[in-house]
Amino acid sequence: MDCILRQTHFLNARLADGSLADLTVTGGRFSAIAPAANAAGPPAGAVDLAGQLVLPAFVEGHIHLDTSFYGDAWRPHIPCTDGFDVRERVAFQMRSLEQAAPMDERAKNQLELCVGHGSLAIRSHVVVDAAVGLKHVETILGVREKYRELIDIQLVAFPQSGILSSPGTAELLDGALKLGCDLIGGLDPASFDRDVNGHLDVVFGLAERRGVGVDIHLHDGGTLGLFEIEEICARTAAMSMQGKVAVSHAYALGDISADTLARAGEMLAASGVAIMTNAPGNHPFPPVAALREAGVTVFAGSDNIRDSWWPYGDGDMLNRANMIGYRSGFYEDRELEAACDLVSHAGAKALGLEGYGIAVGAKADFVALKAEHVPEAVVAVPRERTVFRRGMLVARDSRMTS
Ligand SMILES: [Zn+2]
Repeated sequence: MDCILRQTHFLNARLADGSLADLTVTGGRFSAIAPAANAAGPPAGAVDLAGQLVLPAFVEGHIHLDTSFYGDAWRPHIPCTDGFDVRERVAFQMRSLEQAAPMDERAKNQLELCVGHGSLAIRSHVVVDAAVGLKHVETILGVREKYRELIDIQLVAFPQSGILSSPGTAELLDGALKLGCDLIGGLDPASFDRDVNGHLDVVFGLAERRGVGVDIHLHDGGTLGLFEIEEICARTAAMSMQGKVAVSHAYALGDISADTLARAGEMLAASGVAIMTNAPGNHPFPPVAALREAGVTVFAGSDNIRDSWWPYGDGDMLNRANMIGYRSGFYEDRELEAACDLVSHAGAKALGLEGYGIAVGAKADFVALKAEHVPEAVVAVPRERTVFRRGMLVARDSRMTS
């Protein structure tokens, strides 16, 4: 992308505080943000945003680039035989993937969907297990390389079939980190591997050895899930990994008493462990407002997009903010702004992104859309939007421009 010396002017951008501003982008970063001047002779090539709201590009904090069927044939959802069962869902997924289109095509479809809607940084979990070895990681690393100018992609080596219950997986996870994965994942240490310490020993051991962050899928509910969260927090604090560890889903936080939740919030904030939610439709999920109040970084992701886990998902993080706000009972402006924060600034913090936001010096990755302000953007979810990467147009009206 040729943006080293390029300077672009964006006029009449509406900022989150309601003011109108002119933005200057030099070399891919904001070099000036000044009150809109309404100059009679705007600089050549200036883009008039005509009062559209400008938001930093969205952060897709949890996605699965290797297992979505988006853009492939429609695959009817297969229900579990006796209520939600992770092990059974993994088996369904393996069967469906055998008949799916090539992984790089499906990953590309999903990435373009994300970029089209305005996400320019994502974290994807990628399956590593005895059956697929490092094949998924190798394919998705190739896709990341192809799209590196367009979108920042963090990859999590994800033990979808457990670690201790899938012999050889610990070595494969290490191999995935050596190949270029940025984080080590995990999956329900108690209910899947039935050995919380054994599972976490491998996860945190690899994190220490390879100097990477951690992002663990945790569906376990109630006191069992809470116990696992406590163990993750204790290890994070002991290893001084504050800000580098996340728990995805953490359903347990959604079904414990207010007192217990308050203690959990304090512990998560103190140990710097972030919580990712997608506000699933049929599960209790972490109480976003209470956790934020306690100082916990709560961020958001689509998780599954048209895969064997569920048929929903559109890759639009503004729509995800809407869902999270709706399910959280957010009505006030400050609450709607919090929902937007989950898919933007809080996501950037959880992912450790450098130079994020609409500020001088930050990378000029932003979305312009038709809304008066952030609360309206969250409730209206305008599809008409333009997406800029380092100040260059990359998508319009939910489609990539080239
Ligand atoms: Zn997931």
